[in-house]
Amino acid sequence: MSTRRERAFFVQTLLDQYIPDPKPSLVFSDSYTLLIAVLLSAQSVDARVNTVTPILFAEAKTPQDMARLDVEHIQKIIRPCGLSQKKAQAISALSKILADKYHGLVPKTYEELEALPGVGHKTAAVVLSQGFEIPAMPVDTHIYRCARRWGLSRGNNVNVIERDLKTLFPQRFWNRLHLQIILFARKYCPAKGHNPALCPICTELD
Ligand code: SF4
Repeated sequence: MSTRRERAFFVQTLLDQYIPDPKPSLVFSDSYTLLIAVLLSAQSVDARVNTVTPILFAEAKTPQDMARLDVEHIQKIIRPCGLSQKKAQAISALSKILADKYHGLVPKTYEELEALPGVGHKTAAVVLSQGFEIPAMPVDTHIYRCARRWGLSRGNNVNVIERDLKTLFPQRFWNRLHLQIILFARKYCPAKGHNPALCPICTELD
């Protein structure tokens, strides 16, 4: 398959067959609970985050309520997600900012989101994409791996991969593709080892 655009079209067609109805795997009810869940998912797995967030959100599911909890108490609840001290401090600090500066609402721009404690570009992109349906292409480890394996990017950092994918795919598909690639990668295309019999992508792309 010669051009990157042809490869991209082929990949998208197969993803539509393999992952026809992509849904986020983190459980959330609004943009704030999404933001907290995404922050907790760093260096963790979504299934574990989903066991912790119901306990946390039973105590506080708005920035105002979260800001009133002790950091140590947040840390105790979120410990199973790892990096609990840093994450608890970030959750408390960003909740105070949202309560004081944004009337308890989550802002809708990269600039404002990335200025919040503990919120990097990828977290901001996921919140914009899944919380507000603003087109974004957050690049995590799965998207990084697949974009390179499928010859859609030769980038060796997430910024280049994000730029290449955004160039290759029409904007209206970004949010859907982001979920499709992650779900596909988790199911069929692990970092180590894979079963080519189950997945025709690379064979067809050669
Ligand atoms: S053939 Fe293997 S490496 Fe290629 S996309 Fe499929 S599972 Fe991943």
